[in-house]
Amino acid sequence: MAGGLAFVYFKMGRVPSKPDAGIPQALAIERAGRISDLHYEVTLNVPDARDKPITGHLRATFKLSDAAQPLAFDFAQPAERVSAMHANRTIITPVVEHEHINIPASALVAGDNIVEFEFVAGDAPLNRSDDFLYALFVPARASLAMPVFDQPDLKAKWKLVLTIPLGWVAVTNGKEIGRVGNPDSTGLIFEETAPIPTYLFSFAAGKFQVETAERGGRTFRMFHRETDTQKVARNRDAIFDLHARAISWLEDYTGIPYPFGKFDFVLIPSFQFGGMEHPGAVFYNASGLMLDESATQTQLLGRANVISHETSHMWFGDLVTMKWFNDVWMKEVFANFMAAKIVNPSFPTVNHELRFLFQQYPSAYDVDRTDGANPIRQPLANLNEAGSLYGAIIYQKAPIVMRQLELLLGADSFRDGLREYLKAHAFGNATWTDLIAVLDARTPVDLVAWSDSWVEARGRPRIAVTVTPTGGQTTVSLDETDPLGRGLVWPQTLDVAIGYADRVEHERVSFSTHHEWTIPAKPGGAPLWILPTGGGLGYGDFVLDPATLEALATALPKMPDALMRGATLVTLWESMLEGRLGPDRITEVLFAALPAEVDELNTNQMLAYLRGVYWRFTAADDRVDLAPKLEMLLRSGLDRAASTSEKAAWFGALRSVASTTATVTWLEQVWRHDVTIPQLPLGEADEAELALELAVRDVPNANAILDAQLGRFRNADRRARFLFVRPSVSSDPAVRQAFFESLKDPKNRTHEAWVLEGAHYLHHPLRAATSKKFVIDALAMVLEIQRTGDIFFPKRWADATLSGYQSPQTAADVRQFIAELPPDYPPRLRWVLLSSADTLFRAAKILHQ
Ligand SMILES: [Zn+2]
Repeated sequence: MAGGLAFVYFKMGRVPSKPDAGIPQALAIERAGRISDLHYEVTLNVPDARDKPITGHLRATFKLSDAAQPLAFDFAQPAERVSAMHANRTIITPVVEHEHINIPASALVAGDNIVEFEFVAGDAPLNRSDDFLYALFVPARASLAMPVFDQPDLKAKWKLVLTIPLGWVAVTNGKEIGRVGNPDSTGLIFEETAPIPTYLFSFAAGKFQVETAERGGRTFRMFHRETDTQKVARNRDAIFDLHARAISWLEDYTGIPYPFGKFDFVLIPSFQFGGMEHPGAVFYNASGLMLDESATQTQLLGRANVISHETSHMWFGDLVTMKWFNDVWMKEVFANFMAAKIVNPSFPTVNHELRFLFQQYPSAYDVDRTDGANPIRQPLANLNEAGSLYGAIIYQKAPIVMRQLELLLGADSFRDGLREYLKAHAFGNATWTDLIAVLDARTPVDLVAWSDSWVEARGRPRIAVTVTPTGGQTTVSLDETDPLGRGLVWPQTLDVAIGYADRVEHERVSFSTHHEWTIPAKPGGAPLWILPTGGGLGYGDFVLDPATLEALATALPKMPDALMRGATLVTLWESMLEGRLGPDRITEVLFAALPAEVDELNTNQMLAYLRGVYWRFTAADDRVDLAPKLEMLLRSGLDRAASTSEKAAWFGALRSVASTTATVTWLEQVWRHDVTIPQLPLGEADEAELALELAVRDVPNANAILDAQLGRFRNADRRARFLFVRPSVSSDPAVRQAFFESLKDPKNRTHEAWVLEGAHYLHHPLRAATSKKFVIDALAMVLEIQRTGDIFFPKRWADATLSGYQSPQTAADVRQFIAELPPDYPPRLRWVLLSSADTLFRAAKILHQ
């Protein structure tokens, strides 16, 4: 089969270059060095049924500086899918080797080249449903659909012509500039884009509604599939406003006008990410933007955040793009970091320092405390592993680190450095080293050394806090060590809170290895407690002596400052996970603190921890004893809550932990509309979740409830999702087993959000006894899921798989599975497994040793 091409190579006396599968970095470097002025003209014909193939034509034009070597296009599909191709009029027999189509040097010329392909598009990244589809090419999945140079530093100008069924609409990066008339389809011609890489090229087509709005002289369009017109009416203005505000904030901060012309966005049901920043055609998960009346404050903030995040990417990531995906964290950290700044003024009543704390720290620690901790910046030899770079270290730890960098430089100097960096690399690519060079010039601190420990190394510092009362004085010492024994130091600034009976004092400390100071004797006595993270700064494993820990646990409900209570909460939780404080003590503290809490963010975090300690760190027998007390606490919180969003938070916690007959029966009455909760209207998605939660508890009439729920849906997308998830909550173990087996076929895993919801119910703690037999099989699927699924899927699948277990046996099985992975198992994927298994390992240890 490869004969034709090999013949050409041999004739020219060259060793054929056959790059490995995926996009090896060496190939990317070689191509970026040779190719410039790249344009793609793509024509795609979308048929009226999703099982009919999408045919296409792609014309790539580019300049080559060196035509003496063959040139590889990336195409991870069988050669039969390319029906014809030519390079500069030399007809070439398509051969796909290791996911590449090689153009022989004999067909290339120095200077201007034209290569054209007729092909059948691969469906994998096109997310096809019956009446809509959307392309999602990040990080290097465009080559699963069509032949391209699938790397971030070969930016191209794209022209798309899309033929779609009658009655459909379509949107892509460029604006529509013309139509071709066909009797049975619509042909749309779109304007050529600014230079963008393959991962940012996208389109969506299907039966969507389009809402249009003007804001600040700019027209925004929102494509969506929501059928509840009241819901659309309730949400649309807020969604447009948030976009307009984000754009104007970013134009101001960066000093650069929005670089991509038009601004459209698409709300996709069960989208696999929160959002994706395709310039001119941003995608969102519909449920994150179209909120129910029962939205919690967390959901409202989350919506503002994701809109600001994706909009920030227009500058950070889209205008200036990382050279290689090892620096993907840069675009994510800036998107999150800017989003935090943008969102704050829109929520004047929210404590944003506290929000930053909860948004970043718990998730970052969830990975950084584990054996699966990974550096923020990691080498990446091949883009086919880029998915495993994504996670909490990039999204949550990196913003913490970036805030330390901003503190180091000062906010103005930091902003000016970013402006300089964006301007220098606009419509091009850059690396972390390029940015550090710009910022290093603005500070006397050695940023390269700083970056070595914070950015390039994995793990977090351990900081021992020793409080020694001597006479009336108190000596506080901080000692930092590297838990991984590498001798690394992490310079950072702490805001240490010192609590007295009547006041709190602060000590700001910049240190890296050792720091101590003495608090002089004061009238009224010595401090009652010391909190090293009191001002919301400080990152690491803070080891407090038992007396200090207990003093904090006791003081928590009475601390006057919301941020301080939040920081205490995180510190106590981490201490529990490290075995320094018992789960029963944390439960007591939460029981004491929750009724007194007045800040909604703290309430939400306490409720999250309460759920966590109940399901993961309380033995099943003890849960039975705890349940009535816990449910009473939550019911009274629900009654007491003043706003809809607070009520939704309490109700969500109650729904999650409900186990007594009385509460389950009451929830069923709520679901039946026999009981309504004042100020808490439940939308279709809320009701569906309630029905599933009832079913997983094996209520006697579970099937009838699920049937009735099916009949209640008015939205086809939500109904389809429910139908998919339903077998995961069946009371029949055989049905659940069949559901799990069905997920082994990648075809049944295309709707990742559905799969993850099903996996959560399948592995629900109440099902642990019957579902534990699926765990190892499910973990064994992670490797394939990395290949077939989108970037967040492997980690989320592993998380969902392990979310319901706490037994030493399951922990031992998982440990053994990881220990016996073959030596060539991708190291980053091993980290994914280790971080996902961490809570299980700790729970098993804490509960049973
Ligand atoms: Zn992002």
